[in-house]
Amino acid sequence: MAKPTGDPALIKQINTSIVLECILQYAPLSRAAIAQKTGLNKATVSSLVQDLIDRQLVLEVGAGASSGGRKPVMLMFNSRAGFAIGIDVGVNYLRSILTDLDGTMLQQLHHPVIDCRHDAVITAISECIDQFKQQAPDSPYGIIGIGVGVPGIVNEEGTVVFAPNMGWSQVELKHALEKLYQLPVMIDNEANAGALGEHIYGAGRPYRDQIYVSAGIGIGTGIVLHNKLYKGSSGFSGELGHLSIQFDGRSCSCGNQGCWELYASEHALLEAGAAYGYHDIHAMLQAAEQNKPHMRELFHDIGTYLGIGIANIANIFNPEAVIIGNRMSLAAEWIRPAIEQAVSQRTLRFHHKRLLIQFAELGEQSAVRGAAYYAIEAFWTEVKSGH
Ligand SMILES: [Zn+2]
Repeated sequence: MAKPTGDPALIKQINTSIVLECILQYAPLSRAAIAQKTGLNKATVSSLVQDLIDRQLVLEVGAGASSGGRKPVMLMFNSRAGFAIGIDVGVNYLRSILTDLDGTMLQQLHHPVIDCRHDAVITAISECIDQFKQQAPDSPYGIIGIGVGVPGIVNEEGTVVFAPNMGWSQVELKHALEKLYQLPVMIDNEANAGALGEHIYGAGRPYRDQIYVSAGIGIGTGIVLHNKLYKGSSGFSGELGHLSIQFDGRSCSCGNQGCWELYASEHALLEAGAAYGYHDIHAMLQAAEQNKPHMRELFHDIGTYLGIGIANIANIFNPEAVIIGNRMSLAAEWIRPAIEQAVSQRTLRFHHKRLLIQFAELGEQSAVRGAAYYAIEAFWTEVKSGH
């Protein structure tokens, strides 16, 4: 029987992908270490590494520690081979960043959004992209892609099917931006982008299973299971802001009533604060710092509602950590005790034992950093697939 043989070009591509993945995951490391980790022989590794160096995707970065003989040359992926753009579309702001392939932020823009009709927002997004394209340092691959987080439901084609707080439905955002820029564009829900941002660069790094709660004007959740974003069968998972927590509660724009986000979001906070003459979260934070009892109480109530929703989520998913992000994380100091109290009262004992409640480490940048990461990840996937 003939031995199965493979197309040499295909084998080379598969091996290149293995070597590159090894460098992305473990760098800095030597050629010998790659051979050891991948099981490929040293000559093959050397030739594939040389190929990656020629393509300016990998760099030699000085000598590592010697294990007796000559010090080995260490390898790194070239974080300046190209640059990514991340965009976070908020209900009342637009945040955008330029990063290298390591996710390090080089530039940031932040604009208030007054007109949130989709045409106006797309124009505002393209102004940011144009600016970054001009300002990005020279690099072999230039701008490698654009990732966008939006406060709404996004389908697999990158169409925003529904963003009630923006008044959007069926906005073909990916299509529109790809047509303008001929670059890969990734669109996702801002809570998924935030979950990814915290998982890769922030408070979620140590955890395999985690739930990111984006508590802004609305509430969205991003679910990371086994180190992967769980997207559901149509990409629509994570609408836990519409978890019903009051069976006879207020009506929600989603058609349900008593939804979690009506009680635990920044919107709920602003509504309650208006009765005391406050119109933004910063004024309320200041009042809490000045020991104003009504503001302390208000934060406590919001914290309790956040904790109730988190307890339900913890009972379903049994995550290692719940990470609270977006605007409500600014109030961490004032809402944390109430959240912890509600969670410990309402979570099943077994689930609660190992559950950590954390606040986003990247602050208001969780989603925009995650958005840029989508572009970076897509770039390496493309390289590994031989394109
Ligand atoms: Zn709802």
